[in-house]
Amino acid sequence: MTGYGEFDLVIRHGMVVLPEVCIEADIAVKDGKIAAIGQLEHVQEGTRVFDASGLTIFPGAVDIHVHFNEPRLESWEGFAAGSAALAAGGCTTYVDMPLNGVPPTVSREALNLKLTQAQESSYVDYALWGGLVPGNIEALDELAMAGVVGFKAFMSDPGGEGEGIFSRSNELTLLEGMKKIAAIGGLLALHAESEDIVQASTTSIRQQGRIGMQDYIESRPVIAEVEAVSRALLYASHTGCRLHFVHISTPEALELIDAAKARGMDVSAETCPHYLLLTDKDAERLGAVAKCAPPLRSKDNRERLWDALLHGSVDIIASDHSPCPPSMKQSEDMFEIWGGISGAQSTLLLMLEEGYLARGLTLPQIARLVALAPASRMGLDDRKGSIEIGKDADFALVNFNKTFTLTAQDLLYTHVQSPYLNHTFPCSIAATFCRGNQVYDTQHGVTGSQSGSWLTPKLAGINPREERYA
Ligand code: ZN
Repeated sequence: MTGYGEFDLVIRHGMVVLPEVCIEADIAVKDGKIAAIGQLEHVQEGTRVFDASGLTIFPGAVDIHVHFNEPRLESWEGFAAGSAALAAGGCTTYVDMPLNGVPPTVSREALNLKLTQAQESSYVDYALWGGLVPGNIEALDELAMAGVVGFKAFMSDPGGEGEGIFSRSNELTLLEGMKKIAAIGGLLALHAESEDIVQASTTSIRQQGRIGMQDYIESRPVIAEVEAVSRALLYASHTGCRLHFVHISTPEALELIDAAKARGMDVSAETCPHYLLLTDKDAERLGAVAKCAPPLRSKDNRERLWDALLHGSVDIIASDHSPCPPSMKQSEDMFEIWGGISGAQSTLLLMLEEGYLARGLTLPQIARLVALAPASRMGLDDRKGSIEIGKDADFALVNFNKTFTLTAQDLLYTHVQSPYLNHTFPCSIAATFCRGNQVYDTQHGVTGSQSGSWLTPKLAGINPREERYA
């Protein structure tokens, strides 16, 4: 680009990560959108200029798997704290899971309640998952029309207690749910672990009085994930439902998903940084903060998961950020404590350290895993996920010349819980922009306003945006 322009913001001299290549360029922003990318000769007076010399400009990350726990459980973590943490980590869009708020997002009324909480709380943009649970199939149409990105279901018991529990889907719910979701052109996200296998091995291990981290890990074996993925794929081939597998932890499950893709099935696989970085030994060392389901596994499993990722078997990286009050992480009994890792603030830096610097993925490949692929799977890629003219001006500016040690003060979650506490990253987030508004920089922290907006997907099938209910 050569001419003048009436831009609101120009980010100059950065290394820009485009979908296929990196180029040194200026980015001009107008009305929150990317208006131009290239060498800008003149900048009109009055335009805000951000000098990004020495910085690498990523598309803002899109984390499609977080649990922010509103309504009711904002003491666990709410939209404000959670989205501030994301902004500090270079994430500009997230998709909130239909649990663990109360009530869970399984009806239009519950969706409205959640939207009321999110409004004027979130620092960055967001979309919402709906839930599939026994008894709510009639609500799926309405939720889709209202603009959820898809539906989440559990094949194993999700845990939690009390009013508003989010229940596991039995086989009939899965089958009938998939039929319905296929009919509306939607997407079903699955937590795939076999309840039968997990139940039986948990009972047997607990009967022996075993309560440690290795015992917990042993209670959720690889076969529990592989069996559930296999069964879900069978149901999907029978119903034609599009599937997304959340937090896949084993290369064996990815092999099944690859084979399904090769047969032409519309299915995607997500994994989380903790499965790529941590092992069962780390879980033992870290304790409660590293309990999750599926559990952290062997070093060999982790290495083969990386191999699969490097061969293209992982579509999406998401955090599965699942916080809770510290009291729920305090017990010697690893079966009793809350399962969930708080990690959303660190996703981009972890992937840059391990994926780019240590394992040789390219910067566009990292950007695809953390931004473009998740945005496009959610139907949000008309606005989000890549640095392209016309898309939202969402950027994560990374400094590869400045290390960053994650201290308790840096963590913006409601509770200081992270398996990565005191880790020194070889790079740091210098600034984050959401729709052209600076929401974070190293010096000032989170500075933006809580003006994140709700995003609805351009779903296939019957749900073009303009037909949605207001
Ligand atoms: Zn989750």
